[in-house]
Amino acid sequence: MVSIPVGVLGATGTVGQRFIQLLSGHPWFEITALAASGRSGGQRYAEACHWLLPTEMPGSVSSLVVQPIEPGLDCSLVFSALPSSIAGPVEEDFARAGYAVCSNAAAHRMDAAVPLLIPEVNAGHTTLIDVQRRRRGWPGTIVASANCTTTQLALALKPLDDAFGLRKLSVVAMQAISGAGYPGVPAPDILGNIVPYIGGEEEKVEREFPKLLGSLEGGGIAPAPVVISAQCNRVPVRDGHTECVSIELQSQASTKDLVAAFEDFSGPEQVAVLPSSPAKPIVVRRQADRPQPLRDRDTGGGMSVVVGRVRPCPVLGHKFVVLGHNTVRGAAGGSIHNAELLVEQGWLPR
Ligand code: NAP
Repeated sequence: MVSIPVGVLGATGTVGQRFIQLLSGHPWFEITALAASGRSGGQRYAEACHWLLPTEMPGSVSSLVVQPIEPGLDCSLVFSALPSSIAGPVEEDFARAGYAVCSNAAAHRMDAAVPLLIPEVNAGHTTLIDVQRRRRGWPGTIVASANCTTTQLALALKPLDDAFGLRKLSVVAMQAISGAGYPGVPAPDILGNIVPYIGGEEEKVEREFPKLLGSLEGGGIAPAPVVISAQCNRVPVRDGHTECVSIELQSQASTKDLVAAFEDFSGPEQVAVLPSSPAKPIVVRRQADRPQPLRDRDTGGGMSVVVGRVRPCPVLGHKFVVLGHNTVRGAAGGSIHNAELLVEQGWLPR
């Protein structure tokens, strides 16, 4: 297969760097264009970017010149890691110009004709691409990844919803500082502290989750009928969001049934063959004190979510803890996975 040329919008940021790391050596995609703000524009990537990841900056990108975020980039697919405040019109410009846009930003997630995708959860939602092209009259497409907290929650709950029907869900999220971008939360505000508020985050989880688990109906998505309450906290952890989840199911199930549903889950066959698919999307840990961000966030290359402490809940019936890597599965890795699905399903030429 010939490599598909790809660009990264917001290439110098936290998520942009993760894109570059994960795309380096990718079997299907090759980075040919990088774009960021006027602050970085015109400089070589190695000069413009304050590289934060523990692996070396890939040599293949260090001398690429950072370009403005406008169509005209030498590629057919762009990954967007732009702030939501500017992503909306920029991503539309790219779709109008014929690019496929795989976005991490919130701007288009809830648009009726934009698939909000997690390949193992709702691969069939890509049929919205035809609806989008018809309605918007553009040759390209926009496909969105969910918010990082929502992504790991939906992935963990998909097998339970399939097997037992999800009725109610309460989640308390402890979110890493990398989720706030760079430089993000000032050190004096977060070291030795917890901030029980992340602007807009709880609303995003409560809105996006029912769309992710929703069903295709009449050219749109009918949201899953789940009652959901989210509480989001910023905690002094570098990477990896930990979520304490309580659920009420429609049918009777034991703790053993839940563990079996988590462990047996693999998603559709079409998804299992994608390069970024982990061997197991959900890994269950039986130790009483796991999952932990420091020890579990890189499971499956950061693409698996790790579930533990599955047990009865006297209020809603069942409870457990789920951990996911927010900048891998919850951001760049999730978007790359979405792009792989578009290729596998024939939406992007190989
Ligand atoms: P970030 O570290 O602040 O990076 C922002 C990037 O956008 C930088 O490359 C920056 O370029 C560029 N940019 C900023 N203003 C711009 C402008 N006016 N014009 C063009 N480029 C501009 O943010 P991040 O954490 O990577 O987040 C990126 C997106 O992903 C956001 O929408 C965020 O909500 C979403 N997201 C983040 C996470 C996470 O865990 N961090 C997870 C899921 C989704 P310069 O360096 O040149 O300023």
